[in-house]
Amino acid sequence: MRILIISDIHANLTALDAVLDDAPQVDAVWCLGDLVGYGPDPNECVKRVQALPNLVCLIGNHDAAVSGVIDTTSFNSEARLAVLWTQSVIEQDNLDYLRGLSPQTEIDSVHLAHGSPRQPVWEYLLDTRTAFENFNYFDTPFCFVGHSHMPVVFRMEDKQHTTDLSIPKANSSLKMVPRAIYNPGSVGQPRDRDPRAAYAVFDSDRQTWSLQRVSYDIQSVQDRMRAARLPQRHIQRLSAGW
Ligand code: ZN
Repeated sequence: MRILIISDIHANLTALDAVLDDAPQVDAVWCLGDLVGYGPDPNECVKRVQALPNLVCLIGNHDAAVSGVIDTTSFNSEARLAVLWTQSVIEQDNLDYLRGLSPQTEIDSVHLAHGSPRQPVWEYLLDTRTAFENFNYFDTPFCFVGHSHMPVVFRMEDKQHTTDLSIPKANSSLKMVPRAIYNPGSVGQPRDRDPRAAYAVFDSDRQTWSLQRVSYDIQSVQDRMRAARLPQRHIQRLSAGW
């Protein structure tokens, strides 16, 4: 089976459509959460994701805040503003959809979590120590996470004594070796200094992971964010990719 892996769309419909146009034909789509928050197109993104074939979709921390599952006390002030704006425009059926999602699940040989298997809503997997600890919280050969917006791979090395971090080359395919944690990066707000939308294709038969990047019309998204009076920093970071 070939599965499209997307995460952290953050209400950026232009980036999401660029990814869906660029991606090869797949048998299923797994979305690791944060459909909304930051960007100008929350309703359109929820609708677009819901219509994807054989979808498995997780809730992210922004989705949970917008739909009232968690409060926004641990959000910074700009992220909170984005949550409030999203709540002011999001339609009830989209809210209900987000509210019904869960933050982690297991499917075949893969554990899926928005942030981490230990703390699926909040924890960021950005360093090898945190990743190492998280290998105790799933039993499958592979785990896929989003949330950090960084396309990285953490692999258990040396008979389970250390964890290694690597950054896959964009638009290339790598053989997956258990046990490992993979992050496909962010569709709608990349933070690895590459502003192109990121996604991955997981081939479960060949056991390969292909990280892909695709350019999109960033300026049109920034124009819609300005019109919606969304925070300036979130507008600027799209073109910086940071
Ligand atoms: Zn996110």
